[in-house]
Amino acid sequence: MSNAASDYDQLTAAARQLLAIETLLGSPFTPARPDCLPQIELQPSAAAGQPPAGATMTPEQKAEALAEMDNGEVKGCTKCVLCKGRTNTVFGEGDPDTDIVFIGEGPGADEDASGRPFVGRAGELLAKMLAAMGLSREQVFILNMVKCRPPGNRTPTPDEVASCWDYLVRQLQIIAPKVIVTMGNPSTQTLLNTKVGITRLRGTFQDLPDIGDGLAGTPVMPTFHPAYVLRQYTPENRGKVWSDLQQVMATAGLTVPDAK
Ligand code: URA
Ligand code: SF4
Repeated sequence: MSNAASDYDQLTAAARQLLAIETLLGSPFTPARPDCLPQIELQPSAAAGQPPAGATMTPEQKAEALAEMDNGEVKGCTKCVLCKGRTNTVFGEGDPDTDIVFIGEGPGADEDASGRPFVGRAGELLAKMLAAMGLSREQVFILNMVKCRPPGNRTPTPDEVASCWDYLVRQLQIIAPKVIVTMGNPSTQTLLNTKVGITRLRGTFQDLPDIGDGLAGTPVMPTFHPAYVLRQYTPENRGKVWSDLQQVMATAGLTVPDAK
């Protein structure tokens, strides 16, 4: 009985995930052929250097360390001018012990009002992307480069990103994810220390430079920002994002479902 029930649950979850993939793509789903995926070479340097702080922390200790940074430092932060226009800081949220971290740009109006990352239209698309991966928001961690809303949703300046940088590095050290997904130019170019644009960088894993103890070599998958995909809502762009996410799934050890 219970076996039949759990088989049924698994089939339902798989069917739901396939539907989510087709919703994201707007067309029937064909899995990426493994031979069209670029070879992923994980750098042994990730394991070689000093491990990140989070490597030896329990999930509870990670949650506590993150809450301490949020309540003790970020909520009252005045390190850059963005503090002046904010309603709420947006620390980020999710599973402190996750394998996968998603990094956006900065809070928009909905995020500033609620104090939560990616809850507006871009967030809806991010949730669809996660559903296609068979994941929920609660199973990953969602972060931004800056924790306060830039006025009028402008791109944060390099100064503002630099002021907020230390929080991001420490968040990554505590979470110690297996894979980082950077969405759009600001997070991709800052983390990878490059001026190359997202259109050229997306789709191929890059090694995170030595941005803090234990983080060098973490695989980074640059992909389009959901807000960009919403503006250019073409099957081609959605297909590219899905192909990037399938590579992330493979590296994080998640099973990429078969279409049939
Ligand atoms: N866009 C972002 O980059 N981050 C958010 O939290 C929301 C929209
Ligand atoms: Fe502080 Fe970052 Fe907000 Fe600037 S954006 S005030 S550095 S929390």
